Amino acid sequence: MGIYSIPEDFRLLGENIKYSLSKYDDRYWREHDRKGDFPDEFYSELARNGFFSLNVPEEYGGVGQGLRAVSFVIKEVSRSCGMSAGDLIMATCVFGVQTIKSFASKELKQKLLPELAEGKHIVSFAITEPDAGVNTPEIKTYAEKSGKGFVINGRKIWTTLAHRASLLFVLARTKQLSKVEKKTDGLTVFLVEKEKAVGSLSISRIEDISMRPLGSCEVVFENLYVPEENIIGKIDRAWEVLPTVLNAERISTASIGVGLGELLVMKAAEYARVRKTFSRPIGSNQGIQFPLARAFSQLQAAWAVTQKAAWEFDSSMDCATDANVAAYMASKAAFFAADRAMQTFGGMAYAVDSDIERHWRDSRLLRTGPIPEEMVLSFIGQRVLALPRSY
Ligand SMILES: Cc1cc2nc3c(=O)[nH]c(=O)nc-3n(C[C@H](O)[C@H](O)[C@H](O)COP(=O)(O)OP(=O)(O)OC[C@H]3O[C@@H](n4cnc5c(N)ncnc54)[C@H](O)[C@@H]3O)c2cc1C
Repeated sequence: MGIYSIPEDFRLLGENIKYSLSKYDDRYWREHDRKGDFPDEFYSELARNGFFSLNVPEEYGGVGQGLRAVSFVIKEVSRSCGMSAGDLIMATCVFGVQTIKSFASKELKQKLLPELAEGKHIVSFAITEPDAGVNTPEIKTYAEKSGKGFVINGRKIWTTLAHRASLLFVLARTKQLSKVEKKTDGLTVFLVEKEKAVGSLSISRIEDISMRPLGSCEVVFENLYVPEENIIGKIDRAWEVLPTVLNAERISTASIGVGLGELLVMKAAEYARVRKTFSRPIGSNQGIQFPLARAFSQLQAAWAVTQKAAWEFDSSMDCATDANVAAYMASKAAFFAADRAMQTFGGMAYAVDSDIERHWRDSRLLRTGPIPEEMVLSFIGQRVLALPRSY
C-alpha cells in the first residue's frame, strides 16, 4: 500500500462517519461551545461506532490499525463536526491507546486497552506548567519516592479535559534539574487513575476561547500518591516516551487542522456561490475566489505530508521532521482557511449563529498548541538545517 493511497476500508469508514455523526450538527456544537459543556452523547456515539478501538491491538479487543487510520478518522470527524470532535478522538486514541500500548506494563495494557477500546475512559495529558512554558525540562512538578510508589506535588496549566478525564498522564521531575547531567533526564511520566487517587487533586476550569466543549484546566497535585506500576516507560526516562506520544499528537492535530480547514473552505465556497452583491455571486470575484482556492491547495499539501508522517510513524521510521512539518503546514493552512472564511462571510461571520467565528477561534489554537510554530521552526532550523540553537 503506497503512502498516499486510501484503502477501501478507509473510504467506507469515511462514509460511516458522515452518516453516524450527521445528527451532531452546527446547533449541537454551538450550544456546547456557548455553555462549555462536554459532548457526552457524541462521545458515546463514537464509542458505539467503535472509533476508539481503531488502533487497539486485536489481542486486546481492537481493530489493530495504526496511526494512519486514526489520522484519517480524525480528519473526517473534524471535517464533519469541527475541532473539539477531532481532538476527542486524539485524546483517547493517541494519549490513551498509543501511550499505553507502547509504554505501559503488561498488566496496565490488559486492564486499560479493552476499556479504552469501548470508550470507558476520557484521557488527558498534563505537561505544561505556568513557569516552564515551552521549556519543558524546567517543570517544577515533583514526584518523590514513597514506599511502593511516588507522591506528586505541583501544578499544571492548560490541561485539556482534566476535569472529565478518568485517566490523567502527568509529567513530573523525579530528579531535580540541578542533579541531572542532561536536562531531559530525571523526568518521568505517571498515570493517575482518578478513581483510585489518594491525596489531593484539585482541578479548575480556565475560561478560554478554543475547544470550549472540552475545557482547559489548571490541575494542582498535593501529596497525590501514585503506585510504582503506574509509571509509563521507565523511571527518569520520560524522554524515551514523549517523542513517540508528541509526534503522534502532532500528526493528529495536523489531521484536525486539515479537516477543520476543509470544513471552512467548503462552507465559505457555499456562501460565496449564493451571496450576491452588485447582482452577482461574491464568489465570481477573484478577490474572494482565489484565496479559497489557495486555502484548498494548502490544505491538500498539508494532508500529503501528514499522511507521509503517519506512514513513517506506523513503519517505525523516524517521523519527527515530517510530524513537525505537518503540524506547521496544517496549522497555517487551517488558520488561513478560517480567516478567509471570515472574510468571505463579511459581517455575517461575526454572528455566532454562522459558526464561522467559533471555527476561527478554534483554528487559531493550532498555531500555539500543542506546539507553537516558533518551536517547530526552531526544531527544523536546528535539527534538520544544522543551524545554531536559537534559544
Ligand atoms: C486551549 C489549550 C489547550 C491546551 N492543552 C494542553 C494539554 O492538554 N496538555 C498540556 O500539557 N498543555 C496544553 N496546552 C498548552 C500548550 O501546549 C502551550 O500553551 C504551548 O505549548 C505554549 O506554551 P506557553 O503557553 O507556556 O507559552 P510560552 O512558553 O510562555 O511562550 C509564549 C510565546 O513565546 C514563544 N517563545 C518562547 N520561547 C521562545 C524561543 N526561544 N524562541 C522563539 N519563540 C519563543 C512561544 O513559541 C510562544 O509563542 C494547551 C494550551 C491551550 C491554549
